[in-house]
Amino acid sequence: MNNKYKPLRGFKYNNFLETEIFNFIRNEFFKLAEIYNMKIISPPLLAPTKIFKCLGEASDVVNKELYAFTQKDGEEVCLIPEYTRIFLEQMAYFNIKNGAYVYMGPCFRYERPQFGRYRSFNQLGLEIIGKNNYMVDVEVFLFVKEFLKNIYVDNYILEINSIGTIQDRKHYENLLKEYFEPQLNYMSENSKNKFYRGAFLRMLDSKDEADKIIINKAPKITSFLCEESKNKFNKIKEILTNLNIQFKENPLLVRGLDYYNDLVFEYTHEILGNQALSGGGRYDGLFKNITNEEIPAIGFGMGVERIIHILEQNPKFINEVINNKIYINLLPIEETEYLKALEIKNIIISLNKKYMVEVLYDKNLSNRLKEANKNHVDYVIIFGENEINKQEVIIKNMKKNISNNILIKDLKNFFIVL
Ligand code: AMP
Repeated sequence: MNNKYKPLRGFKYNNFLETEIFNFIRNEFFKLAEIYNMKIISPPLLAPTKIFKCLGEASDVVNKELYAFTQKDGEEVCLIPEYTRIFLEQMAYFNIKNGAYVYMGPCFRYERPQFGRYRSFNQLGLEIIGKNNYMVDVEVFLFVKEFLKNIYVDNYILEINSIGTIQDRKHYENLLKEYFEPQLNYMSENSKNKFYRGAFLRMLDSKDEADKIIINKAPKITSFLCEESKNKFNKIKEILTNLNIQFKENPLLVRGLDYYNDLVFEYTHEILGNQALSGGGRYDGLFKNITNEEIPAIGFGMGVERIIHILEQNPKFINEVINNKIYINLLPIEETEYLKALEIKNIIISLNKKYMVEVLYDKNLSNRLKEANKNHVDYVIIFGENEINKQEVIIKNMKKNISNNILIKDLKNFFIVL
C-alpha cells in the first residue's frame, strides 16, 4: 500500500507490540499507585504558554522546545511539555495542598528527534505535595523500585545529588559563572549559548568530550550546601543504603528544569545510552512562586517510550507477559452452529483473560483452517451438527497437530488446566 501522508517528524505510529506494552505499563502503574493511595490526574494538554515560562527562561524545554502558537482569540497557548507545572495549576484550582498524585499521558517538545527522543511522547509520573520530610523522598525511591520490578525493568542505575536550597544554588551558579567564563573559548557552541543565557547549571549536562574535561574540574555543589541540606542528603543516602536501594552519587547531576532544590535524581539504563529513563527531585519553592503559598513538593517523570524500548529487548518480559496468551479460533461448520459458537466463546472468555477467542464464520472450512494456521492460532474448536447432537466439539492443537473430541461441559476443565 502507498502511504500518502507520513507522520510529522518526531511523531510516530506505534506498532501493535508497542501499544500492548504501553497498556501493560499503564495498568501496572495505576494498579500500584492505587495500592499506595495515590490519586490519578489527567490535566488538559493545551495550556497558556505563560504558565510554563516561569519554569525558567534558561531551560531548553521552555526556551526552544515549546509547541506554542496563538489561538483564534489571540491567546498564546502551548501543548504541555511536562506535567509538574500543569499539575500545580490543577492543585491551586481545587485548592488542594497535600496528597500524592500520578499521571500518564502525552507531552510535546520540539526537539531533534532520535531513538528514544520524540516530539510527541508519553510521561508517567508522581507528584507528592505538602510533605517535606526526607522520608517521603525515600518512599519515592521505594515506589519506583517496586514499579520497575513489576514491569520487568532491571539493571537500571539510580543517580542522586543534592543541589541545596535556592540560596545555595544561586551562590553555586555564581561560582560556576566565574569558573566557566575564562574557559569559554575552549567549550562547545552549545555550552557557550547556555552561558550567555545564564544557564550555568545546565552547562554541567554537556555531552561534549572537550566540555566534559572542563566540567569535571568545576566546583561541586556538594561542597557548598548549607548544613540543613547536607544533613538531609546524608540521611537519605544512609537510609537508601540500609534499605539496600543501590544508588550512585553524581555531584554533577542537575536537572533540566529550573525549579528543583535539594534532592535531584535520575534513572538511567544501558539500553538508553545517555538518555535518562526518568528524572525528578524536590521542588519546594515552585508553589510559592505561583500560588504564594509554601507547599513542599517532590516528583518524578518517566518516559514511557523509553520504558518500551527497554522492554522490547527483554526476553523474560516478552515470554511471560506478551507471549503467554493462548489464541483460540472457533469454527462452526454451518450457519446453524453460529449461536453455539457464541455460547462456547463465552465459556472460554469467562475463564481467564489469557485466552484470546475469535469465531471464524467463512463458508469454507479448509480456508478457515489455513487462516488459523497463518495466524499462529494455538487451538481451533470445530463443531457441526454431528458434534452438537452429541454435545461435543473437536479440539485441534495446531502446534502439535493433534485432534480430540471433547464434551462441551468438559471444555472449562480442559482450558483451566492448560
Ligand atoms: P524531563 O522532564 O526532561 O526530566 O523528562 C522526564 C523523562 O521524560 C525523561 O527522563 C525521559 O524518559 C522522558 N522524555 C523527556 N523528553 C523526551 C522526548 N523528547 N522523547 C521521549 N521521552 C522523553
